[in-house]
Amino acid sequence: MQFEVFTLLPEVFPPYLESSILQRARQNGLIETRIHNIRDWARDKHHTTDDMPYGGGGGMVMKPEPVFDALESVLGPDPDCPVILLTPQGRVFTQAVARELSAHARLGLICGRYEGFDERIRSLASDEISVGDYVLTGGELPALIVIDAVTRLLPGALGDPTGAQDDSHASGLLEYPHYTRPPEYRGLRVPEILLSGDHAKIEQWRREQSLLRTLQRRPDLLKKIDLTEKEKAFIEDRKSKIKNES
Ligand code: SAM
Repeated sequence: MQFEVFTLLPEVFPPYLESSILQRARQNGLIETRIHNIRDWARDKHHTTDDMPYGGGGGMVMKPEPVFDALESVLGPDPDCPVILLTPQGRVFTQAVARELSAHARLGLICGRYEGFDERIRSLASDEISVGDYVLTGGELPALIVIDAVTRLLPGALGDPTGAQDDSHASGLLEYPHYTRPPEYRGLRVPEILLSGDHAKIEQWRREQSLLRTLQRRPDLLKKIDLTEKEKAFIEDRKSKIKNES
C-alpha cells in the first residue's frame, strides 16, 4: 500500500515511520510512505505557503496554489486513490474506517497547518478525517495515526498474524487483560486460569473479560455488536451485579 503524504513539516515523519512495525512493513515492501513537502510547490522565491485570512482575524491560512500543484503533480488523475484531508471537522477515525481504508492500494493524506487551510483545498479531497474531538497544531500526527492503524491491518504487518484480530475495537469489543511473568508481583497475582494451560477455558475467560471490560468502560460499544444469547445473559447478569453493588 502506498501512502502519499502532503505536509509542510516532512521532518516529523521519519522517526516514527522508521521504527518498529512500520519500519518492518516498509522494509518488507508492504507499505511505501512518500512524504511530499508542499513548500516545494510554492510559487514565489520565499516559498510562501500561507497568507492572511480574508475578512481579518487571527492566524494564517494555508494557500491553495501549492497544495493543488503538489497533489496534481504527485497523484495526477487517479480515481482509485482516496485523498483524505486531516481536519477536526471530518468524520471521526475508528477501527472501522481504518479497515475501510486498508482496502485501497494508494492513499493521499493532506496535513493542514496554521489556523487552517483555504476552503478551496477541500475540493481536492474525497474524504475528511478527524482523529478526535480536539484540536492539534497540524495534521502530521493524525496522518501518522491513520498510517499506523491502517498498516497494522495489512496481512503480514504484524509478527503474530492473529495479533490484530483480538485488538480492542477489532471485533467491536475492548481487549481482555494481558499478563506476563512473574506470576506474582507486589502481591498482585496473575489469574490462575492463565497458568492452567487449559486453552478452551482461557479462551472463554478472555471473551468474558472482553465483554466485562467493554461493559464497564464503553457500554455504548455493546449496542453495536451481535452477541450470542449466552453472552447477552452474561452481560445482563453482570449489569444486575453492578447495580446491586452500587
Ligand atoms: N482552525 C481549525 C478548525 O477549527 O477546524 C483547526 C486548525 S489546526 C490548528 C491545524 C491543522 O491541524 C488542521 O488544518 C488539521 O489538518 C490538523 N488537525 C488539528 N486537529 C485535528 C484533528 N482532531 N483531526 C485531524 N486533523 C487535525
